[in-house]
Amino acid sequence: MSTDTPGSQSSLHRANLERVLRAVRMAGSLTQAEIARGTGLSAATVSNIVRELKESGTVVVADTSSGGRRARSVSLSGDAGIVVGIDFGHTHLRVAVGNLAHRVLAEESAPIDVDVSAAQGFDRAEAMVERLLEQAGFRPEKVIGVGLGVPGPIDVETGALGSTAILPGWTGIAPGRELAERLGMPVHVDNDANLGALGELVWGAGRGLSDLAYIKVASGVGAGLVVNGQIYRGPGGTAGEIGHITLDEAGPVCRCGNRGCLETFVGSRYLLSLLTSTLGADLSLPRVVELAHQGDLGCRRVIADAGRQIGTGVATLCNLLNPRRVILGGDLAEAGELVLAPIRDSVARYAIPSAARQLSVVPGTLGGRAEVLGALALVMSEMGESGALGRH
Ligand SMILES: [Zn+2]
Repeated sequence: MSTDTPGSQSSLHRANLERVLRAVRMAGSLTQAEIARGTGLSAATVSNIVRELKESGTVVVADTSSGGRRARSVSLSGDAGIVVGIDFGHTHLRVAVGNLAHRVLAEESAPIDVDVSAAQGFDRAEAMVERLLEQAGFRPEKVIGVGLGVPGPIDVETGALGSTAILPGWTGIAPGRELAERLGMPVHVDNDANLGALGELVWGAGRGLSDLAYIKVASGVGAGLVVNGQIYRGPGGTAGEIGHITLDEAGPVCRCGNRGCLETFVGSRYLLSLLTSTLGADLSLPRVVELAHQGDLGCRRVIADAGRQIGTGVATLCNLLNPRRVILGGDLAEAGELVLAPIRDSVARYAIPSAARQLSVVPGTLGGRAEVLGALALVMSEMGESGALGRH
């Protein structure tokens, strides 16, 4: 520990305080021993900081047991601040209001054609946020931040959607800035796959892990990568575009301009096109999954083949990043073992054995809520000191 000038001691203290708060914020609740392990701080330092945070009303401490021994669990005080999550999908809008103690206080989703007009989508989102805050009994001033998910990569420099091909009605719009102006609240924006990864990391199938990949298979295919407990975005914000791994150079033309990308073989439009001649044009991916569970052989075959192709991408991901767990999200995840077993087969075939040995491939546990819960977690992970102390 430094024993320099008082100034540097106090900035060290602030930094330690911020580390403790961040650990508790992301986990929901932790024992003091867990905080010490997670932050690398000594038990005495943690104990002092927790006492200080308790006195300021930022955290609450409750008796609990850990491995049969008595322990004290620390969580953020329920009224330390409110966070809002907004998830724009291609066909839905979902909004959640939660507190820093990881309680979801109000949540709502509505079908919406987001592709048509961004303004319409923002109108709906704004109205939903206002309604849910009222329902939860909090004034807008209590909101520390808003997490916003959009179905495409966000350009880190401009804040605009990286590819206009994904949402034609959103061309030239920086969704984070637009929404911040409308709501008068700070907005953090990210793509849906990253938020799905954060949601599962904090609330779902990835709890307690520091290295995982969340793969979302819907109309598009993307991955959210968690490396050392943090989302890895890359300098341009495009990391995780697993859907554009080339599987067949002579394959169908992809919306990215390449040919034979993974997405052209497993995206919902392609999967549905395989079944229109036998099951008709009025088909959706959830319906295909339902039919597969009921034993429809054609649907089972289409899902199994998609699983094998996704597995090829997962194997590549394993070789590059060696994640502990791959979590499948999106509509296809509802197929369970029908899609997971073929993914595992491909991983066993194509990944380096040492990379595949420690890997588990599991479905997400949050279903369609992963992204909106991840949006709440995004605010918690991006919160700076201003919001961290809850004294405003
Ligand atoms: Zn592509």
